[in-house]
Amino acid sequence: EAMNSLMLNTDGVQIPQLGLGVWQVTDDEAERAVRTALEAGYRHIDTAAAYGNEEGVGRAVRAGGLPREKVFITTKLWNGDHGRAEQAFDESLARLGLDHVDLFLIHWPAPRQDKYVQAWKALEKIYRDGRARAIGVSNFTVATLTRLMEETGITPSINQIELHPYLQQREMRQFHEANGILTEAWSPLGQGRGLLDDPALAVLSGKHGRTPAQIVLRWHLQLGNVVIPKSVTPSRIKENIDVFGFILDAEDMAAIGALNQGKRLGPDPDTFNGA
Ligand code: NAD
Repeated sequence: EAMNSLMLNTDGVQIPQLGLGVWQVTDDEAERAVRTALEAGYRHIDTAAAYGNEEGVGRAVRAGGLPREKVFITTKLWNGDHGRAEQAFDESLARLGLDHVDLFLIHWPAPRQDKYVQAWKALEKIYRDGRARAIGVSNFTVATLTRLMEETGITPSINQIELHPYLQQREMRQFHEANGILTEAWSPLGQGRGLLDDPALAVLSGKHGRTPAQIVLRWHLQLGNVVIPKSVTPSRIKENIDVFGFILDAEDMAAIGALNQGKRLGPDPDTFNGA
């Protein structure tokens, strides 16, 4: 299987560049989707305490029969748990039925409660104890990332942010690159709504004999983004990982680059504090 990995700034830890996302998926659906994904060659699963499906993910990983070190598992700390990060982490591990995760993220900075620096210090301890092989953040901005690094001296390995052709996040990607932080794209397919019907993607789809979803995922990979497309449909789960056998040329990349609208589908991290 042709699965590319990227190096995190944490010594020697590699992250498979493409994984399966399981937001808005029930426990049982997550179990089925993760089993299908592992059979299709996925080696990276993105869940969160807030998704309510860590148990299903854990069941599928254990049932999959792969050696634990062959599967990269990410989970996330929910907003209400910034003041009790270690306990919340232990609860996630128990639901997953694992003794460590590969990546633990602060899900949102939730700036109004102003506890993300405290939470980050707890994540650092979890990392030092070897219970998360790497730690990072999600939905952080230049301002919140800068404060985190200045107040703790510890750079997150990755920042998982909303990123797709309609929201290309050039400023964030440049900031990450300058600081050795990987960029991970959530809603990489733009949640499958309008984006996948864009006429520019139809042109590239025809040119390469690939679906619009495959064109978009290939664009992410060539930019250096980690991507975690979500699907519970077996045919789409397989389609979404079949993106390592073709290349977009500079003209194709520019055509997708021209689609940016700077519009979010999800909440604004500067104002999102809640559930
Ligand atoms: P996505 O961009 O991955 O789109 C998923 C939707 O696109 C599916 O529900 C389906 O309707 C459609 N789709 C999937 N594959 C397709 C295909 N091959 N052809 C046509 N349609 C297809 O959206 P997402 O679920 O929002 O994001 C992916 C993952 O990112 C989530 O599951 C979650 O793990 C993560 N995420 C993280 C945050 C965060 O705050 N950190 C927020 C949202 C999502």
